[in-house]
Amino acid sequence: MKIMKFGGTSVGSASRMKEVAKLITNGDKNIVVLSAMSGTTNTLEEISDYLYKKNPEGANEIINQLEAQYRKHIEELLSTPEFKQRGMELIKSHFDYIRSFTKDLFTLFEEKVVLAQGELISTAMMNFYLQEQGVKSVLLPALEFMRTDKNADPDPVYIKDKLHNQLELHDEATLFVTQGYICRNAYGEIDNLQRGGSDYTASLIGAAVNAEEIQIWTDIDGMHNNDPRIVDKTKPVRHLQFEEAAELAYFGAKILHPTCIQPAKYANIPVRLLNTMDPNAAGTLVSNESEEGVIKAVAAKEDITAIKIKSSRMLLAHGFLRKVFEIFESYQTSIDMICTSEVGVSVTIDNNKHLNEILNDLKKYGTVTVDHDMCIICVVGDLRWENVGFEAKALDSMKNIPVRMISFGGSNYNISFLIRKSDKARALQQLSDGLFNGIK
Ligand code: ASP
Ligand code: MG
Repeated sequence: MKIMKFGGTSVGSASRMKEVAKLITNGDKNIVVLSAMSGTTNTLEEISDYLYKKNPEGANEIINQLEAQYRKHIEELLSTPEFKQRGMELIKSHFDYIRSFTKDLFTLFEEKVVLAQGELISTAMMNFYLQEQGVKSVLLPALEFMRTDKNADPDPVYIKDKLHNQLELHDEATLFVTQGYICRNAYGEIDNLQRGGSDYTASLIGAAVNAEEIQIWTDIDGMHNNDPRIVDKTKPVRHLQFEEAAELAYFGAKILHPTCIQPAKYANIPVRLLNTMDPNAAGTLVSNESEEGVIKAVAAKEDITAIKIKSSRMLLAHGFLRKVFEIFESYQTSIDMICTSEVGVSVTIDNNKHLNEILNDLKKYGTVTVDHDMCIICVVGDLRWENVGFEAKALDSMKNIPVRMISFGGSNYNISFLIRKSDKARALQQLSDGLFNGIK
């Protein structure tokens, strides 16, 4: 069994949906995970925002616009009067439901229900189209098996159990279509796996059925060795180890959601990144296998804040770092990079929501300085410490750029530099030139 996940752009129009239909009817046994059509989840968030602000007219206007778009999609997607009618009824029932929330109290619970409609609609549309084409497909209701626990983490035992129950109801079926992103929480309420969570759904399902492969279909040719929007002569990376992919996914390579990696890695199921625009292209394979002695890719993450805490009390003192970390923890702010010396520690964060409170608390322990508008550049590949020369090569490419922090040795797969955001493009280009293109 293979899992095939298609993101919002891949199902973003009737014609794109028809392309997806061709790809999923390849004769194999597939579970297909779909996102909402592109833009839909954003629009549903916008509707929710109006409802939070107690502006039902504002919400209604957007609901009507979105419904009109969907009626057009149905018109283009389906061709027989019977299916067109069923399609229009589907759209009407979902939008009437969304509209019902404009009349009552609107809280987080209602918002989750509104946000779930995008995937419910896209999968039902795909299923209608397949049926109209005479393809036997089964719509698997994600809300019957995808579930999170009390910590809002997916519950793999529950998912496996309930998903198998669903699959057993359709023993002879070979094509299943289901919703990405949506789930129920520990209390049985409709919830979701956070924005972009459809990749996570695919990976959780892959692990639950012990799939042969998890395919993530997008509209680019796999993961590139640098950001193609900024750097010229980037190339797709053909193979990545899971941890390399995790570093890249976190550090800005938008192609694969970071949460998606862990379930696949633990279940040892390869993830293949493929391109709906060019289905025969090789894409990128992510697996537990690593390639020795190769630097794979460079990625960057912007809007980073660096905080330095300097204290003579740190000298020879134990417990200093714990106190510092506790402050970040108490404001639910995670630290990305850390560098220490005997008299100080520098950390970076990518979320400034509680920056002022954090700085206030840190000042109890030392002199605090902050650098704004920074950027983490992360070089990923076989960077085990025994390999000689790789970190020197990366440093050499950065030699004319002011570097605020360097982090190496945290994993076997990465070296990170903290630089000014304004130096980002130059750094990325120079690293590509030096590491991949042999240009000095
Ligand atoms: N539709 C959701 C979003 O836009 C989930 C996803 O596409 O992965 O965030
Ligand atoms: Mg997505």
